[in-house]
Amino acid sequence: MSDVRKEIIKAIKELVSQNILFAKGGNLSAKCGKDQLVVTASGKDYSVVKEEDLIVVDYQGKVIEGERKPSSELPLHLAIYKKRPDVNAIIHTHAIWPYVLSVTHQSLPPISDEFTILLGGEIKVSKYEFPGTDKLAESVVESLGMNNASLIANHGCVTVGRTVEEALENMVVLANFSKVYVLAKIFGTPHVLPDWAIEKEKEMYKKWHGFV
Ligand code: 13P
Ligand code: ZN
Repeated sequence: MSDVRKEIIKAIKELVSQNILFAKGGNLSAKCGKDQLVVTASGKDYSVVKEEDLIVVDYQGKVIEGERKPSSELPLHLAIYKKRPDVNAIIHTHAIWPYVLSVTHQSLPPISDEFTILLGGEIKVSKYEFPGTDKLAESVVESLGMNNASLIANHGCVTVGRTVEEALENMVVLANFSKVYVLAKIFGTPHVLPDWAIEKEKEMYKKWHGFV
């Protein structure tokens, strides 16, 4: 099994163990070789994911290897890779706490140093579009911008990374800090970081990603 496939399967197991990925919701992809991607098959059950559930496609979405249909969200994955050459791996999930924000159309403000540095600042919600469509892909590309995460209106969230491991870390961070934020809103008033800290951390994010 190629390293990328192994990394995707490892990430799926980790996300299942944290209840971030459950039942048949969500999909993962990563660049592999020249002009090709490995993407999860449509409708697979994550609790029993196997190597056959990983499909190789080209950048036009044509299947190169694999018997099953690639994820219905392939247009979203392809649109992000097209817009963001720095991204090598993408994870979309229906994780519960980001989902709470996504159904209330509330962005996740920069409430923690850790997530601001890792994800790039405020995590926005895309405009609602139907799952699996080019319109959804377009709206998420816009809300993602140059950040490492976006909420998807009424549908969950997506994270990106330079490696599968990084996209995984970003997903775990997004899931956990969305929970902190929702609970903080119930318990009291969440305070965003001071502007000077947000600016400093956005600069750190940009430098670390080679954007500046
Ligand atoms: P797929 O099983 O086709 O990847 O779809 C799952 C999903 O999350 C759709 O948004
Ligand atoms: Zn989905």
